[in-house]
Amino acid sequence: MENSKVAGTAAAVLALFMVPVVVVMLLLMGGNTAASADNGSCGEDAEAPVAEQAESKSIAGFSGAQLKNAAQIMTAASDLKLSLAAQILGVQTAIGESTLKVIDFGDGAGPDSRGLFQQRDNGAWGSYEDRMNPHTSATNFFKALQKVEGWQDLEPSQAIHRVQRNADPNHYTPFRSPAVQIVKALSVGTLGEDLDEKFEDITPNGDCPDTSPDAKQIGDLGSGEWSSPLPGFTAMTSPFGPRKCPAGASCNSSVLDHKGIDLSKKGGASVLAPTDMKITVAEQGQGWKSAYGTYIIAKQVEKPGLVFEFHHLVHGSLKVKAGDTVAAGTPLGIEGTTGNSTGVHLHFQIAPPGTPANAPTYRTVVDPAPILKSKGVFS
Ligand SMILES: [Zn+2]
Repeated sequence: MENSKVAGTAAAVLALFMVPVVVVMLLLMGGNTAASADNGSCGEDAEAPVAEQAESKSIAGFSGAQLKNAAQIMTAASDLKLSLAAQILGVQTAIGESTLKVIDFGDGAGPDSRGLFQQRDNGAWGSYEDRMNPHTSATNFFKALQKVEGWQDLEPSQAIHRVQRNADPNHYTPFRSPAVQIVKALSVGTLGEDLDEKFEDITPNGDCPDTSPDAKQIGDLGSGEWSSPLPGFTAMTSPFGPRKCPAGASCNSSVLDHKGIDLSKKGGASVLAPTDMKITVAEQGQGWKSAYGTYIIAKQVEKPGLVFEFHHLVHGSLKVKAGDTVAAGTPLGIEGTTGNSTGVHLHFQIAPPGTPANAPTYRTVVDPAPILKSKGVFS
């Protein structure tokens, strides 16, 4: 009896000392965590998907009522017009607090904590019924999250910690991956939007690619001239940047903000390597990448190490494979109209150095036209 009281007091004293330590740590880490921008940066323009009820599924070890509760959390986020990133944070939090169960008991740190988010009876989280209601408790969590300045730019567990005030700010980190899996599995795609493409932005670890302006620095292009990727092309049929939905195309945000340039020679022509490059992907696109048709990603061998993409080639026409290094002017395949394309053309795209070349680069692209001009490909 006496000993446990002493232990309890010691723990309370320790906890008092730990609060300032955590605050100081957050202050010290502020710069770095903001720079990593893990949470909302890549998902912030992604509208929250609609949640589906999925009682029969099992996802990441969760099933039945747990997944119903996850769907309620997702719905609460979309009702508040929050992002996909917020939905994932909400589910991540509730896994860490309650394993997605509406629990009617607290713990040593908070004996009065209740529900999916273990919200306490201190007036901040509503009535007992509110705290035990999945949608209401999630709504109150998201409202508190919105008051955390810059929550979108914090590392996910840190953002959650600002709301939940767990003793360990990293407590929620292990629940990131299951939360992403659950939200992905319970999301119902909306017409015309490519849901998988949104999830490409958020890795299971919650990392986002670097899309800061610094990442778009091209560097010195050097003096050597390039080959044209489509020699003798008759027209640039669509320039880089925002455009109207091309007639007959299936339009989502990627199509409306054109990620490359379209060159056309009316079919049958060879697509060439514009400069020495290493092929990193050469395949017929599957899933959402089927919009690319047969496509190639390649990395420039010399500095600055640009990353190129070539889309809509004729299926089966590829003359290169991943791992090949080819010289400028090497035929890669035949100009076609495979994938989300309304006529024979080559879609040619350039991403700056530092962009990973093993996956589509649409997030970091730059306008290829000035680069091709400076390399003598356009007059
Ligand atoms: Zn295009």
